[in-house]
Amino acid sequence: MPAGAFAERGADLELVGIQKRFPGFTAIDELDLTIPAGSFFALLGPSGCGKTTTLRLVAGLEEPTRGRILIGGVDVTDTKAHERPVNTVFQSYALFPHMSIIENVSFGLKRRRIADAAGRAHEALRLVELDHLAQRRPQQLSGGQQQRVALARAIVNRPALLLLDEPLGALDLKLRRQMQLELKTIQEEVGLTFLHVTHDQEEAMTMADTVAVMNKGAIEQMGPPAELYESPRTVFVANFLGQSNLFSGDVVDSTGTAITVDAAGARLVVPTARARRHQGSVTIGVRPEKVALHREAPVESAERNVLGPGHVIDVSFSGVSTQYLVTVPGVGTLTVFAQNIGSGPVAAEGAEVWVSWDVAHGFGLDDDAD
Ligand code: ATP
Repeated sequence: MPAGAFAERGADLELVGIQKRFPGFTAIDELDLTIPAGSFFALLGPSGCGKTTTLRLVAGLEEPTRGRILIGGVDVTDTKAHERPVNTVFQSYALFPHMSIIENVSFGLKRRRIADAAGRAHEALRLVELDHLAQRRPQQLSGGQQQRVALARAIVNRPALLLLDEPLGALDLKLRRQMQLELKTIQEEVGLTFLHVTHDQEEAMTMADTVAVMNKGAIEQMGPPAELYESPRTVFVANFLGQSNLFSGDVVDSTGTAITVDAAGARLVVPTARARRHQGSVTIGVRPEKVALHREAPVESAERNVLGPGHVIDVSFSGVSTQYLVTVPGVGTLTVFAQNIGSGPVAAEGAEVWVSWDVAHGFGLDDDAD
């Protein structure tokens, strides 16, 4: 669908040394962040990490204690909320129940006496594929459709920056997945800068070009979703973006292109380029789907880390994959995800097994797991 009048690109957002203190509590500390124009950026983190506060600072609903906020290169730190080129879509979308959908979307434009408010509202509704329901009332629409109306209402006045605060939080899982893809498509069509706040790692990774993982008021790591997932830098990021098998140990060799770690007697190898620390005590890890399960001891090789024998202590089937919990004496319990390719479980509960993974898939973290 042509984006028409919405084709203008959004603006970039820059947060410089932002601090936000509430009485007795620092919610954001020294936050520096640049979001390029036209990107879909997700701020991801657990409840209370400061996501909403960051969004409210950008929207002008909170004042920073320190630091500057620039939108499209213009310093808006002291600009009132309604004068910033920003709109927000919240989880509770609060459409006016007594107005039709088209009236809801054109309301803000009409109030500001903008020419062709109705035409622009129809265009926004076409973009979210709801123009055929323009004359309906909000209560005659499904939750997902109402959320799309809220989105149309937020983009109709072409903000340079759209802020989304858990906008899909009230939707059921299936609709949520569908809306994630739709939102991404709409963002690509309108070319606006989207700053999306969520605690759902799958949602952030599905939609965003860049994800920033936030913890206790600071950004721990930022990058394309696959990079964050494949190469987490901290224990927090490794655990927040899916599951990880983590091992603590001491580096016993760091010559060459890999480091060797002694983890409770097991020798595990990580490429030097994928390890944040190269000496002393370290935490290393591997994702569960990168680990293979074996019924017999695999052949030793420099390219694979092998642990075992151990025992399967739990098997749980989940459709496309099966999760195995494997306890290796001295080392701990590992999680293994295996694709179900029609041959039944690789190993039953109680079975003796070995696990292995390609050395190249391991990662070494900045901090310790304990
Ligand atoms: P959630 O996902 O639960 O919305 P969040 O990451 O968006 O969480 P924020 O709402 O930004 O978190 O809150 C960050 C921290 O700042 C929290 O510990 C919160 O209690 C605190 N906080 C937020 N607003 C205020 C306020 N007005 N006064 C005092 N503390 C506040």
